[in-house]
Amino acid sequence: MRYSAFSLAANALRAKPRWPRVWRDAAPKPAYDVVIVGGGGHGLATAYYLAKAFGVANVAVLERGAIGLGNAGRNTTIIRSNYREPGNEAFYEFSMKLWEGLEQDFNYNAMVSQRGVLNLYHSDAQRDAFARRGNAMILHGADAQLLDQAGVRKLAPFLDFENARFPIQGGLLQRRGGTARHDAVVWGYARGADQRGVDIIQNCEVTGLRIVGGQVMGVETTRGPIRAGKVGLAVAGNSSRLGAMAGLRLPIESYPLQAMVSEAIKPLIPGVITFGAGHFYISQSDKGGLVFGGDIDPYPSYAQRGNLPVIEEVCEAGMSLMPMIGRLRVLRMWAGVTDMTMDGSPIIDTTPVRGLYFNGGWCYGGFKATPASGWCFAHLLARDQPHPTATAFRLDRFASGAVIDENGQGAQANLH
Ligand SMILES: Cc1cc2nc3c(=O)[nH]c(=O)nc-3n(C[C@H](O)[C@H](O)[C@H](O)COP(=O)(O)OP(=O)(O)OC[C@H]3O[C@@H](n4cnc5c(N)ncnc54)[C@H](O)[C@@H]3O)c2cc1C
Repeated sequence: MRYSAFSLAANALRAKPRWPRVWRDAAPKPAYDVVIVGGGGHGLATAYYLAKAFGVANVAVLERGAIGLGNAGRNTTIIRSNYREPGNEAFYEFSMKLWEGLEQDFNYNAMVSQRGVLNLYHSDAQRDAFARRGNAMILHGADAQLLDQAGVRKLAPFLDFENARFPIQGGLLQRRGGTARHDAVVWGYARGADQRGVDIIQNCEVTGLRIVGGQVMGVETTRGPIRAGKVGLAVAGNSSRLGAMAGLRLPIESYPLQAMVSEAIKPLIPGVITFGAGHFYISQSDKGGLVFGGDIDPYPSYAQRGNLPVIEEVCEAGMSLMPMIGRLRVLRMWAGVTDMTMDGSPIIDTTPVRGLYFNGGWCYGGFKATPASGWCFAHLLARDQPHPTATAFRLDRFASGAVIDENGQGAQANLH
């Protein structure tokens, strides 16, 4: 069924609305051309673009639980393309362009809202670094505006400009950045992939990879073995576990990352705002809650839960930026498990095992990458060639030294 204003109005008038299932509950077949492990945003986007753009529809997405309950459904929903490094910026700007047409493309309301992302700076040196980053963005076709203090005051007069320990001097603004509804992104890709023949198989955990003579032959799952010519891993925080099944030791550490939401208030925060003197980012959901987060918890873990000291630290950073939020109650907090690379940049590449492809290492920022990650991984799986915007995301860069050192994004951001 195609969604439209007409179908919405027709169903609103029917005594028994006719909304069919959005995707099939597929059972595993014995074999597929491509098996994708991981039913998060990246796995589902990969399946969608494989079927839609590359003509490969004999595809299964295997998810150990229900789709979208990993990081895809736990993030703070920020989308932006304000990266500095050449290897990253073109890719994230490609993703931004895909976001801009996504809802029309998959005919689903993902609540993409380009409400702006403002990164604050608090020193002359930081202003210079942000100016450099803004120029890199503009060179790659993205938008960037360097604001002085008066410019920031106009956008966010509630920030503490007078008594702050780290006075706000200005900010780097990307107006095309913003937020999107994370669950809807997952559901939109799932629906689009399913409509094109992809099997989305939930409650199907991959427990092993079948590899014979250096070539992948398929996967072992809790619902039986499945043969496949190609297997793509898109399992975010579980990358090292799945890599180990193929004997790979990946340059990745997994850490909990928490997010918090406050009780709902009237519209206050106009877009996304990030603190430049600590790790803190905040936006306001359409329901009115302030959604915010900061650093990863400082120890590796596969548990989808974090600890109180980090919540305290994040709230302190928020208070030093906008002291009035101290009067709000935090309603909920939760955590996901992020796969952190050492240079803060992702990996989309083939592996030493023929037919086994890897997508991971998204650190703090894989949600915004979802469309381009799916497209580029599909490109690699279909053509065995990296997409032009993802050529730098090589697995061997940690051996060759060709790292993409994106300041403040990796597992040890303090060491960059
Ligand atoms: C609290 C938090 C805030 C964040 N905020 C932002 C943000 O504002 N902006 C941004 O760009 N990014 C953000 N991120 C990062 C972003 O959410 C992730 O980088 C991105 O979602 C990862 O890709 P994914 O959606 O495919 O991952 P996931 O949704 O985690 O998908 C991986 C899937 O693989 C499945 N899986 C694992 N092992 C197996 C197995 N053996 N068999 C079958 N299935 C398996 C998991 O169950 C999971 O569903 C945030 C992350 C967190 C945790």
